[in-house]
Amino acid sequence: MGTIVQKFGGTSVADAAKIRLAAERIVRAKREGNSIIAVVSARGDLTDELVALSHEVSAAPPRREMDMLLSTGEQQSVALMAMAVDALGEEAISFSGAQIGIVTDSFHTKAKIKNIDPTRIIEALDAGKIAIVAGFQGVDENFNVTTLGRGGSDTTAVAIAGVLKADVCEIYTDVGGVYTADPRLVPDARKIERLSYDEMLELASLGARVMQARSIEFANKYNVAIHVRPSYSDSEGTYIVREVPEMEGIVVSGAAVSEAEAKITLRAVPDRPGVAAAVLGGFAARKINVDMIIQNISASGFADMSLTVPMSDLAEAREVAVALTEDLDAGRVEVDDNIAKLSVVGIGMRSHTGVAEKMFSVLAAEGINIQMISTSEIKISVVIDQASAQRALRAIHRAFELEKAPA
Ligand code: ASP
Ligand code: MG
Repeated sequence: MGTIVQKFGGTSVADAAKIRLAAERIVRAKREGNSIIAVVSARGDLTDELVALSHEVSAAPPRREMDMLLSTGEQQSVALMAMAVDALGEEAISFSGAQIGIVTDSFHTKAKIKNIDPTRIIEALDAGKIAIVAGFQGVDENFNVTTLGRGGSDTTAVAIAGVLKADVCEIYTDVGGVYTADPRLVPDARKIERLSYDEMLELASLGARVMQARSIEFANKYNVAIHVRPSYSDSEGTYIVREVPEMEGIVVSGAAVSEAEAKITLRAVPDRPGVAAAVLGGFAARKINVDMIIQNISASGFADMSLTVPMSDLAEAREVAVALTEDLDAGRVEVDDNIAKLSVVGIGMRSHTGVAEKMFSVLAAEGINIQMISTSEIKISVVIDQASAQRALRAIHRAFELEKAPA
């Protein structure tokens, strides 16, 4: 008898039939003797539709109202799921984020969880009920509804699994696991059996559209075992767990490509102490996540600085960049939104050399120019032209033989 969090994404609750299927899975796990907390996302593409609708009524929808709107998607899902479970003869109770005390900061549309009060969930479970919780949403200290950023239901699920010390957090998806590359882009991509938190965090941040990166930070911090598994069958998916020594043997675990970023270049930035801090500080003040940064060697006291930002923040980032160049007496701002970031990830890179060389040689052989490079202990990312991204991903996947199961 254990405690299991089951998270169902938008595709897994897209219509009545899918909701009933998910409800059957929830009920089955409950009847096996487990306490079940189900975390659900908005149905299908509902969140995208609501975002589109908001832009039809306003060019710049206030973020607070955006959260009020988007949170309705998950609220529909919890009620429908509780009804479906009830219809199968088990007691269920749905909760909004506010009702179970998911308290966040006040950064609307990308709020961070500060605290969860598990009292109501525990009461429900103790009464033999299945708790159905709305993903992606919380409230700030003044009871304003907030949301956790796109894909935030994963973070809700993992955070709840963390506070309840659940045995496992199951993430049900229509792709069935984490692959060596997106199977829609690389047909012979292979499902990975087991990944470390660090690898998954890199892959999630680098464009593998499987889980919200922030959820993996929570999992790592609170030691939550995650099982990403198919919603259409009972087969195993991918376990995301704490690192074990055997994992070092796999040099490259996966590759990912992201087209969700744009490159901003600030020309002729004065080359003196404090300038980089001022630039980054300008973006940080607006909560814009800067990813890659390069600065060229200065010529006559000026340097060019390029950085990448999420496409969704591009308009705001451009404003920040223009304001910065005025403050710093720098040159012009250039924006390139036709870039892609291609990355390879693997814990084994810590102890094996030659990965970067191989990656760059493959790109050279394909005639693809590298615009930016960044590395960490366990990943190498390059920015390339977007038009070449899928071809590059396939070439890299082939070169590292990712389709073959590790020995
Ligand atoms: N419905 C939200 C989204 O589409 C949250 C989620 O699905 O995790 O981003
Ligand atoms: Mg999702």
